[in-house]
Amino acid sequence: MDKIVITQIKENNRRIVSRVAPRVRGRVPLNLKNSLRPVGKVVIDTEICKGCGFCIEFCPQGILEFSDKINKQGYQYPRVKPGMENLCVDCGMCERVCPELAIQVYEANRVPPEVVSA
Ligand code: SF4
Ligand code: SF4
Repeated sequence: MDKIVITQIKENNRRIVSRVAPRVRGRVPLNLKNSLRPVGKVVIDTEICKGCGFCIEFCPQGILEFSDKINKQGYQYPRVKPGMENLCVDCGMCERVCPELAIQVYEANRVPPEVVSA
């Protein structure tokens, strides 16, 4: 059985503890060739956004950022970082954490998963 490594990261004075199984070099799922990962399309209703930034903070892919524009209510709203559109994995986290229900994500495509080398 793989050993579990406990990593502690200090970020903004909060301690984040993550449990990570160590990568085994060269080990990939047998059905990788047949697997496709979803690509999400993020749709933001910029006019009801309150600029809280929750979606940016909780996106596991780190692909959201504040745009340089503000809406009619005076709030700066988020956008997908230019060039990172295909990195959205359609997890729906931004949609769930938005208190204003200003984000919707839907599956726009499916692509072969990227293999990250150790
Ligand atoms: S669906 Fe997931 S990966 Fe895509 S932008 Fe939202 S939080 Fe990020
Ligand atoms: S979570 Fe919703 S309200 Fe907050 S910045 Fe993102 S889109 Fe705007």
